[in-house]
Amino acid sequence: MLLLLAGSLWVAWIHSELLKGRSFWTVKIPQDCSWGWRKLLKLRADARSLLSFEVGDGKNIFLWHDCWHPNGTLYQKYGHRIVYDAASSLNAKVSSILQNKEWCWRPARSEDLVDIQSKLSLVQIKDSDKAIWLLNSSGKFNCADTWQHLRGKQAEVQWWKLIWFNKAIPRHGFIGWLTMKNRLATKDRLIQWGICVDPVCLFCRHMLEDRDHLFFKCPFTKRIWDHIMALCLVSDAIDDWNMLVAWGTQHLQGKSFRTSLCKVAWWAAVYHIWLQRNLEFTVGRLKLRSR
Ligand SMILES: [Zn+2]
Repeated sequence: MLLLLAGSLWVAWIHSELLKGRSFWTVKIPQDCSWGWRKLLKLRADARSLLSFEVGDGKNIFLWHDCWHPNGTLYQKYGHRIVYDAASSLNAKVSSILQNKEWCWRPARSEDLVDIQSKLSLVQIKDSDKAIWLLNSSGKFNCADTWQHLRGKQAEVQWWKLIWFNKAIPRHGFIGWLTMKNRLATKDRLIQWGICVDPVCLFCRHMLEDRDHLFFKCPFTKRIWDHIMALCLVSDAIDDWNMLVAWGTQHLQGKSFRTSLCKVAWWAAVYHIWLQRNLEFTVGRLKLRSR
């Protein structure tokens, strides 16, 4: 829509007030523009390689900056020299070299221009200009396909079903996911980031507070954990985090009530222990400040 000047009042406003005849791909990010416009401009590098154009009358396609030619985006490939050699202007449209659906380019003055002009016969001229979103067979933009393309794909972790399951409580799951990735701001990590804190666990006041101690090696949280697992009919609850995850991945499969109960209980325990730890942390700091 934005590139073909069609569809909405917003697009018309963007073209008249922000682009003012310049290409979306080349306009600089203004100092004082809105958050949304800034974001859109920053995403151009990602979007550019995913778009090509079908040429109709060429009035909405930038000759040098849009990808309509078999050689790709001409300005990106040849630089400003090609605009100069063609005696054209930076914001020229494809329509400037089209007349009654026939190519009418001046005689080429460089080898690159000869090459560009020789390939014009490969460009099919359609009824109207059209932007083609290359990720979708229909050529139309699609959020899901674009997200799948842009996100960094990583190997699937074995434990994901422990966190994301039907009866999971989202806020518990989120903290659980951070815990799995060891991304909670536990004291060992705060110290790694250069933040000066007392490294001792706030519950037992004896050992270094890191994820594996907090869940569930600490005598205080271990007692809670043992009790919760006993309620879930799990005797000898595992207190080593990595072994616990391995056990869960192996034994907490399927959708049975007991499996779901164990997983819900696990993440509820993690969530509330983390909540309580944060409370202790904040109160401790407040006390320190008031001294
Ligand atoms: Zn402790």
